[in-house]
Amino acid sequence: MPDSAHQPSRSTAGATDFDVVIVGAGFAGMYMLHRLRGLGMSARVYEAGDGVGGTWYWNRYPGARCDVESVQYSYQFDKELEQEWTWSEKYSPQGEILKYANHVADRFDLRRDIQFETKVASTTYDEGNGTWSVVTDAGETVTSGYVVMATGCLSSFNMPKFEGVEDFKGASYHTGHWPHEGVDFTGLRVGVIGTGSSAIQSIPEIAKQAKHLTVFQRTANYTIPARNAKLAEEYVQSIKADYSGLRERAKKMPSGYSFPFNAGSVLEVPEEEYRREYRSRWEKGGTAYLGAYGDLLLKPEANKTAANFVKDMIRETVTDPAVAELLCPTNIIGCKRLCVDTDYYATYNRPNVKLVDISKAPIDTITPEGLRHDDIDYQFDAIVFATGFDAMTGALFNIDIKGKGGESLKEKWTGGPQTYLGLTTVGFPNMFTITGPGSPSVLTNMLPSIEQHVNFIADCLSYMREHGHSRIEPELQAELDWGVHVNEVADLSLRSTCASWYVGANVPGKPRVFMPYIGGFPRYVAECERVVENGYQGFQLA
Ligand code: NAP
Repeated sequence: MPDSAHQPSRSTAGATDFDVVIVGAGFAGMYMLHRLRGLGMSARVYEAGDGVGGTWYWNRYPGARCDVESVQYSYQFDKELEQEWTWSEKYSPQGEILKYANHVADRFDLRRDIQFETKVASTTYDEGNGTWSVVTDAGETVTSGYVVMATGCLSSFNMPKFEGVEDFKGASYHTGHWPHEGVDFTGLRVGVIGTGSSAIQSIPEIAKQAKHLTVFQRTANYTIPARNAKLAEEYVQSIKADYSGLRERAKKMPSGYSFPFNAGSVLEVPEEEYRREYRSRWEKGGTAYLGAYGDLLLKPEANKTAANFVKDMIRETVTDPAVAELLCPTNIIGCKRLCVDTDYYATYNRPNVKLVDISKAPIDTITPEGLRHDDIDYQFDAIVFATGFDAMTGALFNIDIKGKGGESLKEKWTGGPQTYLGLTTVGFPNMFTITGPGSPSVLTNMLPSIEQHVNFIADCLSYMREHGHSRIEPELQAELDWGVHVNEVADLSLRSTCASWYVGANVPGKPRVFMPYIGGFPRYVAECERVVENGYQGFQLA
């Protein structure tokens, strides 16, 4: 039973400790708690960290900031909150986003139902009672009618098994689990492994401090300058004057994010014209670069036009031609998630920065003094692992989730995730996954996607209560059909064609399945609405 500091308020039904247990106090868990309170349901949130904020609590590496404009990467469920909070920059830094998460927690008095520094070790479905039994790493057990996994898509960090890593005598860090007190690299010899978004944001900052920085690159990545800037007071006021208009425009976009999008084909446009368009988007900055033409992620020849322009920019920026060539990606632009940076390519012009290509031979071993690659020994005072995440399923598999008949989620998903709408899975009644695999999630602006899922779950629980139901589980056929649809739309996009974390390629042994739903936010929302209008079609309610 819970300790005295966290005595559960009995569930409204009375048979369990809580109506709902929520795992994670990031943006998803916080809003879920708020909605459940509004329904008069009791909930307990378990959070591993000692504060709210999820991804923005853990990812404190230098240079960490949002790559969706902050005025859109924010909650929209409360109009007063929207008006009272003011973002200072176009892409706010991690610290400001974390401050926002804390502001929301205080404003809605959320902390009293969040148990911090507590991991959920297991959740087991009791078929007899139709309830979940949740066990924490402190050995505490509570029961609930429902569990909601608000565990995040990129929260379980990926630490590859480098030989000798425990023998390294210097300091080592992972970008996804950065020390709260920060790290001072001044005067140090630093190695960074990885060149994904986290590395691309942190490398320019680390290079400014370090005596010498060596970057180990396995796959070159495309990145577009952020052109980040302080937001002018007039701009903020204009956004606040029509926040609902902005949100509505965003909801119509496949990414749930409003930006200038041209649906036309680049293949019908003269080279001079499309290069002018790419230059204009390069100058404005951000991921809107890929919104230049509608077929960039559909046809390889269209994609090449956008990729080649970025490569030209790399060659223009980086003074050493050999380094520039190494930085030029060879794959499809946008296949791996497009990165957004501040001075990334220019950083390689610094005399204290060296780029090492590890695409042909992997790192041999971490040594006590640094690392060995291709028979060369590198000496470091610090190594930064910017090696990403076990995306979308990692955080769920870190919990021993057992459904009907004692089946574990990990076993069920051995060949890849199977879900209905990315929200539920057969065999695990009364369990919801916010932004789970099979939902638009990581291909969209996460905040509106989170809100849409939370609203779906809250409305569903309210409907069930009104109709005297206490058990919900998807039908097998609905899950199978949704899986077929998720795969069909994935096959239409170039995004599913490369070795990215979208397909689990970054984690050895992970099944190669395109995990998010790429049909777009509006189509997905319409499908959810249709399901609800038809009395939760595809679900068994009991
Ligand atoms: P990532 O994109 O998965 O990048 C990991 C990097 O580590 C890749 O360059 C990868 O190389 C390399 N790597 C992995 N295992 C390796 C090994 N064994 N040996 C050598 N290199 C290895 O991870 P991330 O940069 O943390 O970003 C993940 C996602 O988080 C992003 O795509 C984005 O969605 C999100 N994110 C967002 C922001 C933002 O909003 N601004 C910032 C950071 C992250 P390969 O490419 O060859 O696998």
